Amino acid sequence: MEEDILRYAERMGCQELHMTVDKTTGLHAVVAIHNVALGPALGGCRCLEYPDTFSAIEDAIRLARGMTYKAAISNLPLGGGKAVLLKPKKILDRTKYFRAFGRFLDNLGGRYITAVDSGTSTADMDAISIETAHVTNTTTHRLFSMADPSPMTATGVLRGIQAAVKFVLKKNSLKGIHVTVQGLGHVGYALVQQLQAAGARITVFDINPESVAKCCNEFGVDSVPTLEDLIETQADVFAPCALGAIINDKTIKKLQVPIIAGAANNQLAEDHHGDLLQQMNICYAPDYVINAGGLIYVAGQYTRMTENESKEKVNQIYDTLMTIFQRSVKEKQSTHKIADKIVEEKLQRAP
Ligand code: NAD
Repeated sequence: MEEDILRYAERMGCQELHMTVDKTTGLHAVVAIHNVALGPALGGCRCLEYPDTFSAIEDAIRLARGMTYKAAISNLPLGGGKAVLLKPKKILDRTKYFRAFGRFLDNLGGRYITAVDSGTSTADMDAISIETAHVTNTTTHRLFSMADPSPMTATGVLRGIQAAVKFVLKKNSLKGIHVTVQGLGHVGYALVQQLQAAGARITVFDINPESVAKCCNEFGVDSVPTLEDLIETQADVFAPCALGAIINDKTIKKLQVPIIAGAANNQLAEDHHGDLLQQMNICYAPDYVINAGGLIYVAGQYTRMTENESKEKVNQIYDTLMTIFQRSVKEKQSTHKIADKIVEEKLQRAP
């Protein structure tokens, strides 16, 4: 990274950076607390290999910022943070490693609350919870019925698709609406299930043929042989539920849909692709707004909501997106920029 790391933190609006090393366990950890104006910073704990410490800090800052925006747009009383553990070649004792991280977290006094992310598990959260209360996703502290929040992420995406279909196609129902779904993993599979129950027509693609076969057999949906075929399918909605950067220079020209609404994180390869979608009259549901259902569900357990209140908050993704679509037309700005604007207005108003 060429830019000075603290200047980068400042430019990204990141308020705090914390680091620790623990020689005994091999722990090298970074916690970025992006913003706590609306509440304590909730965000996952990654444990991955990084080429160097600066890359890890950069990742923590970028991801923490994402969490601030996702929590704020979802009206949660939470800020954004992220922990990045630079995975050593070998973790000799995983429990001791995560307990050492737990002790470090406890010193932050609850300004950051950690959760499962890439490379960590509920067992790791259990180890952290021996040392601190500022942790979610443990096996014992689960209050709600579902351990995996992915179906709630899918429900949020379904509500987002309903909002976009109402806004663009003026329809109150998904009956007969043609949705193409890329990626049939935890979220994509649950989304197909919910779309089918809502009467939508569905076409799917996944690089894993077994996932495709499972969906086709269980739900009787259509499939196409390649991603390119899916992108070029004429449909009402494209729902990306695989990896990021699916809206890029190559794919954007081939899209044959008036709506993009799916779960994948970082769907726009670059910021200007969002502006291009607006110019092409394609209604884009900003990723961090439509895919917040899982976070809302998990956060509900920490913020003492009931399971039903939490689910009702997931349903509200419909209203949030409707506001964004309406403001996008009124203010002649792309939906992803309007979403950012709403968050920034909220943070400025916070005490
Ligand atoms: P997952 O790993 O369970 O599933 C991803 C699926 O995409 C897999 O079936 C994989 O085979 C498929 N895939 C990978 N590359 C593909 C490609 N090029 N074309 C088609 N299919 C491809 O992941 P998930 O939990 O279902 O999450 C899906 C996306 O949603 C990710 O971007 C994730 O970051 C995002 N997301 C997930 C959640 C959640 O609650 N799980 C919450 C918010 C955002």
